[in-house]
Amino acid sequence: MKQDHEDSTTQQQLKAAAAEIHKLREQLAYHNYRYYILDDPQVSDDEYDMTMRRLIALETEHPDLITPDSPTQRVGAPLEGEFPEVVHRVPMLSLQDVRGDEELVEWENRIRRHMHLPAEAVIEYVCEPKIDGLAMSLTYENGKFVRGATRGNGRQGEDITANLRTINAIPWQLRLEPAPPIFEPRGEVFMMRSEFEKLNERQTEEGKPLFANPRNAGAGSVRQKDPKITASRPLTFFAYAVGAVEGVPLHKQWDILEVLRRAGFRVNSQSRICQGLDAVREFIEHWREERHKVDYATDGVVVKVNDLRWQDELGIVNRFPRWACAFKFPPEEQITRVLDITVNVGRTGALTPLAHFEPVEVAGTTVSKATLHNEDEMKRKDIRIGDKVVIRKAGEIIPEVVRVITEERTGEEKVFQFPTQCPVCNAAVVKPEGEAVARCVNAECPAQLERLLEHFVSRGAMNIDRVGEKLIKQLVAADLVHDVADLFYLTKEQLLSLERMAEKSAQNVLDSIEGAKHPPLPRLIFALGIRHVGERTAGLIADRFGTLEALRAAPEAEIAGIHDVGQVAGASVRSWLEEEHNQHVLDKLEKAEVRPEESTPVAADGQFTGKSFVFTGAMTIDRREAEAMVKRVGARPSGSVSKKTDYVVVGDNAGSKADRARELGVKILTEEEFKALLELGL
Ligand code: NAD
Repeated sequence: MKQDHEDSTTQQQLKAAAAEIHKLREQLAYHNYRYYILDDPQVSDDEYDMTMRRLIALETEHPDLITPDSPTQRVGAPLEGEFPEVVHRVPMLSLQDVRGDEELVEWENRIRRHMHLPAEAVIEYVCEPKIDGLAMSLTYENGKFVRGATRGNGRQGEDITANLRTINAIPWQLRLEPAPPIFEPRGEVFMMRSEFEKLNERQTEEGKPLFANPRNAGAGSVRQKDPKITASRPLTFFAYAVGAVEGVPLHKQWDILEVLRRAGFRVNSQSRICQGLDAVREFIEHWREERHKVDYATDGVVVKVNDLRWQDELGIVNRFPRWACAFKFPPEEQITRVLDITVNVGRTGALTPLAHFEPVEVAGTTVSKATLHNEDEMKRKDIRIGDKVVIRKAGEIIPEVVRVITEERTGEEKVFQFPTQCPVCNAAVVKPEGEAVARCVNAECPAQLERLLEHFVSRGAMNIDRVGEKLIKQLVAADLVHDVADLFYLTKEQLLSLERMAEKSAQNVLDSIEGAKHPPLPRLIFALGIRHVGERTAGLIADRFGTLEALRAAPEAEIAGIHDVGQVAGASVRSWLEEEHNQHVLDKLEKAEVRPEESTPVAADGQFTGKSFVFTGAMTIDRREAEAMVKRVGARPSGSVSKKTDYVVVGDNAGSKADRARELGVKILTEEEFKALLELGL
């Protein structure tokens, strides 16, 4: 009887375990798809890791229930078929994650057991910062880059050679002599954090959606169908391993790093050889802090046994090598409460919901608010006032709400009603079909005007440094400024009528405004705050037309036709120029004698269209004249030398730019040769 009862309990437990395993596998498969295929994860890495751990624990308890298609047995997600498949000569594996010292010791003990090492033997490791990017395998045949692929499911990856060719840090030719028949560097494609921030700034300027963190931005950029898009994204590559290799003797992990460096790859200079676990611990402790200071996102430290023969002997278990592990730092997440939700009105009228929290420390800074991006995003996450939420610094930069802890809801939480009227001017809010962003379309909305003025005076725009946020608020509230041109009509009396404005500061403000009347044309175009026109686009437009008058007269097709400007920005500029209010602003600017510096437009179909020139050193002709000459023949003058530079013109006492040109093999011209070249059109 008792036996029967026990049997049925075991049966029930087994059934429950099988059901949970099934559920966990489904969840993990879904999250793998969102993470690896869509580059749009829905849960934090930590949550994912915890779900995976639960599945591993259950499968360890019930080994009969393990199936080859379980996420515990495989790397990544099934391929989507968007790119041709590549079979990796040597499979690309994942790494066992290790959290805390106890697990690190356990990991080392397994190595000791496997290698029959006594307790006192000191194992030599290589410790490397773990870059949070995308693993790639590159194939070089006889020194030439022939193929690059993602990790995919570990055995097969996606062929994204064309995209990888656009990344500067991936050489087309190895620098190894003699060139090995086969050499497969492996490493991580990623985006520097500073570049990621700039990219997001550009996305904002151009009204495009933001990337959540550098990893998503990197992943989304490198798996593009159009390599031109990849090329426009600031991606780089760190090498740290090799796949198949022929003709290069390698004995240690450290040798691999050195050969990769010699071959022309970026190798993380922070990696170290560590004798024994104590040295590893020191490295990990150092990185706990250091990782906030470097310009790339790291989520841990990778520890590898240095000796490659040992690596061979230790081999692989499931999807992990036994000889390596990833020590992961605790997530930069915190739990707090939403105290309020407010709505900000931006320069283009975009309404952005903002959550205010009980202040908490995350990754070394106090966080008290975070953007909820837009109404749809807020609804998707179902964030309510009073909710307990998990917040995190995405990519350790922008705070964001990961999820609501719904289990802790009391029923007192309030659903935030997204306004149908602008919270500042009460005008109607418009949300076009298919767009996530709702906008206030009142051109005279004070909030929009304030944001626009802040943008207009900012450093990259008109650079009017004495007009700051506070003064702008005062000027708008006092009805002294209704558009950007009004700044140039302010009088001292008007300024003195403002609270806390003394004679001297008023004069400083006026001087600063006066001093900004002749900006370079690109800065003025950028300052106008036209949607989809960031600094770069403004520069391209200015180069093409040379004057504001020429731009005002230009048809849409001509603006859109400029290389790298395109339809969306072209249409946006034209419709901005058509609007009566804006025409009035431009007329007022002209009347106030705001005149951009003269600049020569780049000829659309000159003999040198698409070429670039860099000038360095003292020349007999004026630098501006030289630049104008170049533009008249369709070329572009540039300030720095890169592989893409076509000519460097050197005058007397030319310095580093000439050296760099020599290094890169860029054509160097004397001033005489330059003049002859333009005249003869050679
Ligand atoms: P992993 O990212 O934990 O570790 C393995 C990877 O580390 C390697 O493939 C390589 O790309 C990388 N790496 C970086 N620096 C390295 C170095 N110096 N040496 C060796 N490798 C280095 O494991 P994984 O299998 O790539 O991905 C699983 C992880 O991805 C999960 O633990 C989770 O954090 C995350 N994930 C998250 C979700 C989600 O929905 N949030 C979904 C799937 C995966």
